[in-house]
Amino acid sequence: MATTSANPDQPNARKAQACRLAARTGMARSAALRHVLRAAERWQPRHRWALTDDVRAWLSGESWRGIGYGDLYAWLDNEVSPDFVCDRCGEPGNARDTDCSISLIVTAYDPDLSPATRHLATKKYHAACRPSSIAWQAPPTVSSVPQPLYLPSSQKPSMAGEFALEPRALLDTDPDDDTRHAMLLLTAHVVRDHGQGSFAWLTELELYLSGEGVGRVHDLEDETDWTLRIAAEHATEDRPPWIAIRTARDAADGTPDHLLLCQLDLPEGWAETARRDGCVDLVVGPCTRHWDHAPVPEDTVDEIAELLNENDERCGCAHLTADHAVDLVESSAFLVGTVRVAQEAR
Ligand SMILES: [Zn+2]
Ligand SMILES: [Zn+2]
Repeated sequence: MATTSANPDQPNARKAQACRLAARTGMARSAALRHVLRAAERWQPRHRWALTDDVRAWLSGESWRGIGYGDLYAWLDNEVSPDFVCDRCGEPGNARDTDCSISLIVTAYDPDLSPATRHLATKKYHAACRPSSIAWQAPPTVSSVPQPLYLPSSQKPSMAGEFALEPRALLDTDPDDDTRHAMLLLTAHVVRDHGQGSFAWLTELELYLSGEGVGRVHDLEDETDWTLRIAAEHATEDRPPWIAIRTARDAADGTPDHLLLCQLDLPEGWAETARRDGCVDLVVGPCTRHWDHAPVPEDTVDEIAELLNENDERCGCAHLTADHAVDLVESSAFLVGTVRVAQEAR
């Protein structure tokens, strides 16, 4: 009978394990193989550190992501002093003659917020005070305000225009068959124009977007290389849902480059619809403050202007509905593109 589970004693299984470790951590294949072979050796700590499964998984490399470490068995045996002051009770401890615990504070992996499991600090305790552990540190909370977008001027690349982006999640109902589609509306407000006026920078934005596959509805080509992560599963009041639009670029440290990373109110059914379709329509255009520069249908301009007068606001983007977005795309005032939804949350 053929079996799918590889025997870990076979060299091929070790190699496969090393491949996975290298892929998960970015380690060189040879270093990963050395590590896998080392982790397969029978090892007991030199001092009386009472280790738990999660600490063993850390030492063996099983729980590393986005970063590789050296021989942590040797580290614990030779570099971690067995003489210490307990981080719980404040009394001295000695792992040479009493059972002791070690706790590593490590950043929890998140592909967008903390793409490497970094070991930040080490705590030591009497085993009676606290068991050993990996204390995963939650990733930072995502801001409610999107990060600014900077685009270099195509005439003078040393000069960058600054845009504030405002995202809205909208559900668009197809009038033909009543199916709903998830739409992400993004309005851009030119915050810094270097005295060139917002029109020049909105043109730069359009150039940038069309290079990325976001264009006028009538000459649309492929989908963008961007992916959208919708982080809505474990949302609470303290941690509202958030989204990330990852561009195809990766920074040198493995951090994904984001067009957008922020908290976002998601209407009922939006995330499910986006996941069902595997993509969302990304609609991008100028903030209502810049509508003098765009071929926005007059009805829409009037409608938004009326709402603004009542509320004394300057930006009317919050009043835009999915129907408006469709009209804005049809009139070519706004650009549209398709962004794939990352299927896995992690
Ligand atoms: Zn203690
Ligand atoms: Zn606006």
